[in-house]
Amino acid sequence: MTERIDCDVAIIGAGIAGAGIAAHLADAAGVVVLDQEKRAGHHSTGRSAAVFIQNYGNATIRGLSRESGRFFREGGARDFAVPLLSPRRILFVCDAATRAALDGLLAQSEGLREIGAREALQAMPILDPGWLAGAAIEEDASDIDVDAMHQGWLRRAREGGARLILDAPVERASREGGRWRIETPNGLVSSRIVVNAAGAWADEIAALFGARRLGLQPMRRSMAVLPAPEGHVTRDWPLTADAGDRWYVKPEAGRLLVSPADEDPVEPHDAYVDDMVLAEGLHRFEQAVTMEVTRVESSWAGLRTFAPDRTPVAGFDGSAEGFFWLAGQGGYGMQTAPAMSALAAALVEGRTPPAATESLIAALSPARFG
Ligand SMILES: Cc1cc2nc3c(=O)[nH]c(=O)nc-3n(C[C@H](O)[C@H](O)[C@H](O)COP(=O)(O)OP(=O)(O)OC[C@H]3O[C@@H](n4cnc5c(N)ncnc54)[C@H](O)[C@@H]3O)c2cc1C
Repeated sequence: MTERIDCDVAIIGAGIAGAGIAAHLADAAGVVVLDQEKRAGHHSTGRSAAVFIQNYGNATIRGLSRESGRFFREGGARDFAVPLLSPRRILFVCDAATRAALDGLLAQSEGLREIGAREALQAMPILDPGWLAGAAIEEDASDIDVDAMHQGWLRRAREGGARLILDAPVERASREGGRWRIETPNGLVSSRIVVNAAGAWADEIAALFGARRLGLQPMRRSMAVLPAPEGHVTRDWPLTADAGDRWYVKPEAGRLLVSPADEDPVEPHDAYVDDMVLAEGLHRFEQAVTMEVTRVESSWAGLRTFAPDRTPVAGFDGSAEGFFWLAGQGGYGMQTAPAMSALAAALVEGRTPPAATESLIAALSPARFG
């Protein structure tokens, strides 16, 4: 990009957040999506566990997930080449030390059913009966086809006339004639509105645009790919999560993905695994199962970026004109993406969202940080 591009809305970040809002805005506005990487989805979007769990996160997240669930299952799903969801049960398990955590989950959750050890072991035969002190199952959770959703939204945005510009890190920004002048090493974009969908870098982008940082904190989460234990067909195993958040395991393409469920605060960066954190997490997993971890085939880490109240941020900034936040999706950015993108697009366009969403808009607004 060497030319100067004029547009209505410049979106910084081509992850799921940027792609989703671009798809919603492109028919009615001139949209440019900028990403610093050579490939869209290089950061958190390409590194998720890709699951939809209704009983996850606080009340606002659950509301967004419920609304997104409707989109996934009904109308919006028709726009994609393949169904975006496929069934994947979630099994929460505990040992004696984390029984209270499982009870807490059961008390707060919808559609979560306590089950006995026999049923838990039938569902997940590698659990160690000596470790297991309780279990509960969520039957209607799902795997999300993240790539189909992400690529589908980018395609829809392009069909609406949006331009996706990769390898374009936003380095400087200023106001010029009531518009944003956005500088990348390869050229300039001038836009009326900027959407900050920069994931782990959202606070850095805010600072570039003269908006206040909100205290968004990127947290590292790691994943290891293990060979499936011999003699087992793992395809229909549930995602099994320790109720005490010490590990989870998900079957995937004949292998097991195991996460230490780490949540270590880090600076925004191209995340990589801390070998010690991974080894400790795999050790905790081994305590709960009868299989031995003999080989890690591969591993990766990604960043889950949280606002101080662990609720995403969507709305215009109070101090920087035309600067819109779409950030802080934490560990729920996939399962909440349909509802978040639709709501954020309505706010950017100045459309009045339904009255029922008033409290949701207040909960997501950057104004809540004072
Ligand atoms: C290990 C792991 C497991 C997860 N599992 C799940 C799950 O099962 N279900 C779920 O719902 N969510 C899950 N998540 C969370 C989900 O992945 C994130 O919430 C989501 O990807 C956030 O999307 P995003 O578009 O905001 O961020 P990103 O995908 O990180 O996109 C932000 C983009 O902004 C770009 N950018 C930043 N700065 C600049 C700049 N200066 N100029 C230009 N571009 C810039 C970056 O290059 C990046 O592409 C998981 C996350 C991790 C790490």
